[in-house]
Amino acid sequence: MTDAPLKLFNSLTRELETFTPIHDGEARVYTCGPTVYNYQHVGNMRAYIFADTLGRTLSHKGLKLSHVINITDVGHLTSDADEGDDKMEKAAAAEGKSAWDIARYYQEVFEADLDRLNVRKPAHPRATDYVESMIEWGKAMQDKHCYELDSGLYFDISTVPDYGRLARAVTEEGEARIDAVDGKRNAADFAIWRKTPAGETRQMEWDSPWGKGAPGWHLECSVMSAELLGHPFDIHTGGIDHREIHHPNEIAQNQAHNCSSDSAAKIWMHNNFLIDRRGKMSKSTGDFLVLQTLVDRGFHPLAYRMMCLQAHYRSELEFSWEGLMAALTRLKRMVMLVERLADAPVGGAIDHPKFAPVLEKFEAAISDDLNTAIALTALEDALATKKVDAAIKRAVVEHMDGVLGLNLFDLTRTDLRLRPKDAQMTEAEIEDAIVRRKAARADKDFATSDAIRDELAAKGVDLMDGDPLGWEWKLS
Ligand code: AMP
Ligand code: ZN
Repeated sequence: MTDAPLKLFNSLTRELETFTPIHDGEARVYTCGPTVYNYQHVGNMRAYIFADTLGRTLSHKGLKLSHVINITDVGHLTSDADEGDDKMEKAAAAEGKSAWDIARYYQEVFEADLDRLNVRKPAHPRATDYVESMIEWGKAMQDKHCYELDSGLYFDISTVPDYGRLARAVTEEGEARIDAVDGKRNAADFAIWRKTPAGETRQMEWDSPWGKGAPGWHLECSVMSAELLGHPFDIHTGGIDHREIHHPNEIAQNQAHNCSSDSAAKIWMHNNFLIDRRGKMSKSTGDFLVLQTLVDRGFHPLAYRMMCLQAHYRSELEFSWEGLMAALTRLKRMVMLVERLADAPVGGAIDHPKFAPVLEKFEAAISDDLNTAIALTALEDALATKKVDAAIKRAVVEHMDGVLGLNLFDLTRTDLRLRPKDAQMTEAEIEDAIVRRKAARADKDFATSDAIRDELAAKGVDLMDGDPLGWEWKLS
């Protein structure tokens, strides 16, 4: 069953490739993590839901997974290139906290969000713990690949073979992120070390052979992937914007440091953007959605995971509240069917002829570059299979949900009720009113029954008599 070969789209070759691990029985994955100077928006979280789905699929294939998502707690620059203010220090000044406190706070929020989205816990090393190693890398690369300017140590991209082959064509967005620093040899050269300007002190700065300062933002991923996963390793992931600059720069550093033309990761994978009507969701606009906003509007976080899984990770996904509501409804339907399996014995065998076709469909889908949209329909087919042993059905559904991560056996209908932050009644009060109304109706006391309905409506609770989902009520 788990023997369909896993095919993944490699951005380096722009082709589907059959995944064969470098180390027998193991998969090593590195995912570029968040810069913790602000909240992660739901677009960022799409990148981690994708990385988690990849990790779960590799585990499902029987591989021992080592997965790293680094925490960028060194401030890089507001222009995302080599000039502008330090993001971490800027946020610290705005919030009246230290840069270190800012980083810890946003890391905690990020990790809590991962948890709410049922992302399994990978290792979360912090960049500030690897600065010594970054300096060592700088020293190893400087003679052959770098040059010094007043502002720092720069990497000369002409010193490595086919720089930018990952990006292929640099897009306008990519161009905009490359800045002009006086004295750079090539427009795309980038900082390995940024010197603290004379007369200034930064909260986050370290001594180095090039003076006090901080590492350039591309360096940490090369260093941390090498230290934690070894070079070469299997898969490197990130959002599609990283295909343009950050990942080509990581590759250049890997080549320079390892004295090799090899990019260090065998497969580079990129998720496409979450967009809204105005375009790519991004932090720089200042106006973005965080997971908590969805929760405040009453949505369970896993409705957002469902929304992401319904699209292929390489397609753009447009966020809309209607779309999120549709994803929630789909999740509710699944949970209701799973509730019927709650008492079924755990540990059933899945190899029953009745489930063979859906298991095959599921396996083919996820093995085809993580086609979660089709995998979800296989899960629904399994749930709809009639006249089968509940223990077997339960095992099949658990098997599939292990990859999709919807946490179906722990979710309840109550968890999935729309529950806006400003709701005026508690769940218990609503249930109590419903019991009273049912009793009134049983007594044919329709005046009381209507009065209870109106009373609930006034507090924003809609009763849904005859709701096909059997939900009874929702908060409007
Ligand atoms: P950042 O904290 O800006 O480095 O972003 C964290 C991750 O989110 C990176 O992998 C980005 O490529 C990814 N990302 C940023 N914006 C979006 C978006 N709108 N949709 C999907 N992924 C995104
Ligand atoms: Zn990175």
